[in-house]
Amino acid sequence: MAILEERAGLYVHIPFCLKKCRYCDFYSVTDLSLEKPFVHALKQEMRQKSRLGGSFDTLYLGGGTPSILQDAHLASIMEEALTCFDFEKNREVTIEVNPGTVTRSKLDFYLQTGIDRLNIGIQSFTDSNLAFLGRSHTALTALMAVNQAREAGFANIGLDLIIGLPGQERTGLQADLECALSFQPEHLSCYMLSYEPRTPLDQMRKRGRVTPLEEDRVSDLYEFLSGFLEEQGYEHYEISNFARRDPGSSHPPHRSRHNQKYWNHTPYIGVGPAAHSFILPRRFWNGKNLRAYMEALTKGLSPMAEEEILSPQQELMEALALGLRTQEGIGFDDFRKRFGVHLQQIVEKEALPLKEAGRLSFDGEHLWLTRKGFLIADAVTLRLIDAMDVA
Ligand code: SF4
Repeated sequence: MAILEERAGLYVHIPFCLKKCRYCDFYSVTDLSLEKPFVHALKQEMRQKSRLGGSFDTLYLGGGTPSILQDAHLASIMEEALTCFDFEKNREVTIEVNPGTVTRSKLDFYLQTGIDRLNIGIQSFTDSNLAFLGRSHTALTALMAVNQAREAGFANIGLDLIIGLPGQERTGLQADLECALSFQPEHLSCYMLSYEPRTPLDQMRKRGRVTPLEEDRVSDLYEFLSGFLEEQGYEHYEISNFARRDPGSSHPPHRSRHNQKYWNHTPYIGVGPAAHSFILPRRFWNGKNLRAYMEALTKGLSPMAEEEILSPQQELMEALALGLRTQEGIGFDDFRKRFGVHLQQIVEKEALPLKEAGRLSFDGEHLWLTRKGFLIADAVTLRLIDAMDVA
């Protein structure tokens, strides 16, 4: 099967971490002795998946902690990716970096290999927050990592922050944001702390050792964050993502080109354990087991664990849910052409109370959620789907 016309993205999952953070449910292991055989298997999988064809304009090395990789391993992954897949010259190549695992020489090396974008998992510039989250770095290490990245010459840096920690107040969040903004990052991702099942943090919650911040206080922090960053020149272009605008420049805001593919159903291929791939209407993914992954590839087999084919109804529901996560929202005309549904009529009939409550806006062409509306995106999606009667 070939990838369709659109330019696809390649996601590479590096399944290693120094230690597991308390809140994290991404797949990774801490046995770094498996790095070499993993790289070997990963290259095999890239060769297998290269048969899907297509052309690519984004490459994203995520995880896990890609910055744990030895330079020689990273270089061979990059080389294989660029050989196996047809990448455009004008591409975005991102690596996720954990502050505790980068050095200036690593950063210089990333630039040499063609990586032009860093996504640094800061989470907070406050030591007590980092300790609570079980991160392996300190505030000082976080500051040094961003500083070194700028010194090395990275002109496209994204910082990840977590908000909504127990007891967090606006003042604490503002201090973190000001620290982040002192580097003028091109991109910020701000995620609300979630208590994912089976994580140590969720166990702590169940035993009463942690009390999650009340929902209305999390909402207050979120609205504050969004307003604050907009005032500082950042475009709130997706529920959790902000892109820096360069005033007076013709450069569009610095959005993540790769992540936008996830929100608009553009094809992407994932390699590595637990990685997902999507070629409309098919989604398929690898299992969350590094040893089984390596074993399958050593035998020349596919590491794919499962797949699903989206029905037209599922595709519609996903398009609605994903579109409402973005600043652009959903174009009525596009939606009608794609699904044969007159969304405008449904919205005009069903969504007036939400409009009056300042949660949602629409004109003759588009429907989009406001900052307040982003907080209830799932509920709005469900309400519209109920009204369409397609579930
Ligand atoms: S470093 Fe990232 S991927 Fe690894 S455990 Fe922590 S949050 Fe999860």
